[in-house]
Amino acid sequence: MTASLTYRHLFGPGPSNCYPEAISALGNPVLGHLDPLFIEILDRTCESLRQVWGTKNARTLPLSGTGSAGMEAAFVNTVGAGDVAVVAVNGQFGERMCEIARRAGAEVVRVDHEWGQPIDPERVAAAHPAPKVIAAVHAETSTGVRSDIAALGQLKGDALLLTDAVTSIGGLELLADDWGIDVGYAGTQKCLGVAPGLSPFTISDAAFERRIKDPQSWYLDIGLLGGYVGAASGSKRTYHHTAPVTMIASLDAGLSRVLDEGLDAVQSRHAAAGLALQEGLQEMGLELFAAEGSRLPSLTTVRVPSGVDSAAVRAYLLEHFSLEIGAGSGQFASTVWRIGMMGPNANPGSVVLVLGALKEAIAKA
Ligand code: PLP
Repeated sequence: MTASLTYRHLFGPGPSNCYPEAISALGNPVLGHLDPLFIEILDRTCESLRQVWGTKNARTLPLSGTGSAGMEAAFVNTVGAGDVAVVAVNGQFGERMCEIARRAGAEVVRVDHEWGQPIDPERVAAAHPAPKVIAAVHAETSTGVRSDIAALGQLKGDALLLTDAVTSIGGLELLADDWGIDVGYAGTQKCLGVAPGLSPFTISDAAFERRIKDPQSWYLDIGLLGGYVGAASGSKRTYHHTAPVTMIASLDAGLSRVLDEGLDAVQSRHAAAGLALQEGLQEMGLELFAAEGSRLPSLTTVRVPSGVDSAAVRAYLLEHFSLEIGAGSGQFASTVWRIGMMGPNANPGSVVLVLGALKEAIAKA
């Protein structure tokens, strides 16, 4: 028997905080991937993505794959055997970058930071005299920390700056061109409020010129993805793979929803919800995990009070409030909670619900 699924308010850093517009687009007739109507949707999606990335890059597109596909694409297109990749690590996703860069053949110079702290742009930039790329995570979902990518961009020298914006895009200021981001990848399932499955990707012309020709991944070869960028990049629209039309239509609807509200307004909504949640948690006597001044509004990390069973509280919230919060990551799995305020859930009502529910769960679980 299939368990019936009721609507859940999902506040974890999980995938189900979707705008209704994005969800209902999933139910539309499935267009052929060469249908002119779909091409219109694709072109609009790429244009909307330029807006949320803060870029004019022609090669800005929804990659077919989740955020990790974007991460792979960023590295396989820019580093090959022997190239030096400096990677800032202050959480799980910086670690994943190191592994992907290593598999792409790069000599990885890993710059570790304490989890919960932002990266130190000066230390990262000084880690190697002539790296091909410098990579960092803008919003570390494993720790709830925001790092200063603009500062890193100023120090990058001749290196290409690779940036993970999975948990910032759409919810946090993100200015790829102004900050000097050469290659960026993101996800749809966080602040953009769309189901997981695509990776908003952008690469500058300069980085495109310095790309690895014939990278080891045919599928993620940005040089071959002409079908997506087509006229925008001055190249002919060509078939590369069958576009996931339904997901792209859903992303288009989600992006339109965000841009209709206004990017500034959406970011302010995320900022207000994150701040209210963080103040409320502290008023409850809980201790925030991420360093003050670098806390993400979209993802709040808070220490589990001593003597409280983290998993029991999470299970209570799910059972009694249909509300999911995340466990901590890595060594903080049972000592930290991660609470998302993303997409449509970034609103004052969610804050009140989470705070009230958490109070009850801590007392009763
Ligand atoms: N980078 C960050 C900062 C993330 O939060 C995530 C996923 O949560 C990823 C990369 C990987 O994305 P995905 O799980 O969509 O492959």
